[in-house]
Amino acid sequence: MIQKIVQRRLEAVFLAGASRIDEWPEHWLTGKDVDQGESYCLPCAEEEVENLIKKNHSDDYFVDGGWGTGGDVQAFCEKCNRYLGNFFTLYACEQEVLHFTDNGFDPRSADDCYSMDKVISTMEWQLIPEEKSEHYDALHKLYRTIINNFFWISNSTYSEYLYMWN
Ligand SMILES: [Zn+2]
Repeated sequence: MIQKIVQRRLEAVFLAGASRIDEWPEHWLTGKDVDQGESYCLPCAEEEVENLIKKNHSDDYFVDGGWGTGGDVQAFCEKCNRYLGNFFTLYACEQEVLHFTDNGFDPRSADDCYSMDKVISTMEWQLIPEEKSEHYDALHKLYRTIINNFFWISNSTYSEYLYMWN
């Protein structure tokens, strides 16, 4: 079991990196023949609605969303590629854990931290009864690898390293 203080430090590392990501609320479009599976940031969604209204000579198109939905992958704006703030499903978490287990995790990468911040938001530290324990086994194995690779996370000099992002 990972000590509580180290859990808090991992969370802080993830959050410090994640806060450098420019995340926008997720929006989508509604109206006739519109693909609701496509996500946009608000400025692009508004632009798309304007285009649809002009193209179809109909006012029946709207921007929808603006709240978090569960996603099996990280959502990006279809037009400008901004990060969109969906939350990770358990499947998305599994995929991220697998990715970092195979490719390594870099605490200096805002992108890596952002992903793990979302994983911890969904999975937290406790095993939820209806979930399979192997998800948590894989997650905790990854945490132990991160702690081993970046000694300062569990070291008393931790505070000197946490500010490396600034
Ligand atoms: Zn956009």
